[in-house]
Amino acid sequence: MEPSYDLVVVGAGTGGCLAAKTAAENGLNVCLIESKSAENIGLKACGDAVGMHHFDNIRLAYPTGSELCWELEGVKIFSPDFETSLRIMGLGAKAFMVNRREFGRRLIKEALDAGVEFMDKTTVLKPIIENNHVVAVRVKGSVFSGVLKGRVFIDASGVSAVLRRNAPEVPGFERTVGREDLEIAYREIRVFESEINDKTFGCIYLSQKYAPGGYFWLFPKGLNVVNIGLGVQFSRAKMEIKNYFTRFINEKLPWLNKAKTLDGRGAFVPTRRPLDNMVSNGLLVVGDAACQVNPIHGGGIGPSMTAGKLAGETAVKALEKADLSYRGLWNYNVAYMRVYGAKQASLDVFRVFLQNVSDDELNYGMSRKLIAEEDVLKASLYGEVKLTITDKTLRFLRSIGKLNFLSRLRKISELMETVKVHYQSFPENPDGFPKWLVAVRKLVDEYKMVGMGNV
Ligand SMILES: Cc1cc2nc3c(=O)[nH]c(=O)nc-3n(C[C@H](O)[C@H](O)[C@H](O)COP(=O)(O)OP(=O)(O)OC[C@H]3O[C@@H](n4cnc5c(N)ncnc54)[C@H](O)[C@@H]3O)c2cc1C
Repeated sequence: MEPSYDLVVVGAGTGGCLAAKTAAENGLNVCLIESKSAENIGLKACGDAVGMHHFDNIRLAYPTGSELCWELEGVKIFSPDFETSLRIMGLGAKAFMVNRREFGRRLIKEALDAGVEFMDKTTVLKPIIENNHVVAVRVKGSVFSGVLKGRVFIDASGVSAVLRRNAPEVPGFERTVGREDLEIAYREIRVFESEINDKTFGCIYLSQKYAPGGYFWLFPKGLNVVNIGLGVQFSRAKMEIKNYFTRFINEKLPWLNKAKTLDGRGAFVPTRRPLDNMVSNGLLVVGDAACQVNPIHGGGIGPSMTAGKLAGETAVKALEKADLSYRGLWNYNVAYMRVYGAKQASLDVFRVFLQNVSDDELNYGMSRKLIAEEDVLKASLYGEVKLTITDKTLRFLRSIGKLNFLSRLRKISELMETVKVHYQSFPENPDGFPKWLVAVRKLVDEYKMVGMGNV
């Protein structure tokens, strides 16, 4: 007979582990499936930075011991000409630099302790759908290959989104994500022979020339260790991602070449608003598979854990009510949009704008502090951009013919607020969803037009 579970979670990354653990703690019989081996689960291309507030939000213990490599007080953002840097610090800017492998091991252990059955070295090939409902998955593994049945499924397989891509059709469910909404990223861990200078701040370098539609990062990971990487909007990538990375270092930060490379790897990150609808019949989608990454900085560990927890809780309630249709799972959408999705969607408005401003405009905007240092953190935490525009700035902008830039920025800031409010009123019931979705599509068209300077 085919094995059968209340809940099958695909992917044991940060989102999948939290989903599996939450559901098992609430009494479900859960199977967690993962392609990688148990010891390598956390190993992936990542900047390794997780904001402290994410742990507080889901009441997860802070990383300690070998799991914690370093702590950052905040981040410095450099303009393309390196002339201006904004220093973002304060409670919401504190971040842990984690050892991804150890962090992954801890999350797996917590899931196992809660009673989750874990199948590593096992790949889910596809969902099995009957009557427009996911009823099982076909897997190929080192110990078991065949069909695994479940009453409900969670796709936490990251950008590969193996269930989402083949999910049953229900209103507003997106199976694919556009190239313009993906970043291709590459990162290396490098070690120096001596201590690095500034170890308390992560650094972000904006540049359309070197990282079109993305940025270069340098995150200290110890006294003499750094995590450095670069992301480029996938639709604009014209050469291998590693070539962008090497070019930036050679031309802008050559001192980084004195360090030895310990590890180098690349991967995709979705950078957009969350999927409009993250549930189908018998299916919830979590983490990168649901495009839940912060669209501005690409941080997705925190939101994936938050969403994993919400998806696990929703699965428990839906099983109690014995309604595993998309309607029965709808509350996951509502909960996610309230706690993170609304902010994420408003930041997507700003993402499109940032990806389409020139280096000159960025240099100018940052040097004039059109957004004050203290407001950048608020923007990242709450998805609101407040502009500080003096009469002097206005006169200057007029004199250099840049009023259009300013009016775009103003419009973007208004649209961020409109989008956020719209997402905060995400319909509690699927019946209100079609109307809400029509308005979203209109707003997205509008902010893409304004962001790209087509108005
Ligand atoms: C270069 C880079 C730098 C980044 N830096 C940061 C950062 O500093 N901070 C931050 O917060 N975020 C960062 N991110 C984003 C972050 O890594 C992701 O958002 C986060 O890991 C998403 O978690 P997840 O659980 O959704 O997916 P993942 O962590 O990708 O987990 C998915 C899991 O599913 C497994 N899997 C996939 N397909 C299958 C299948 N068919 N069958 C079985 N298992 C499967 C995979 O092996 C994997 O273990 C970065 C991303 C990249 C690419």
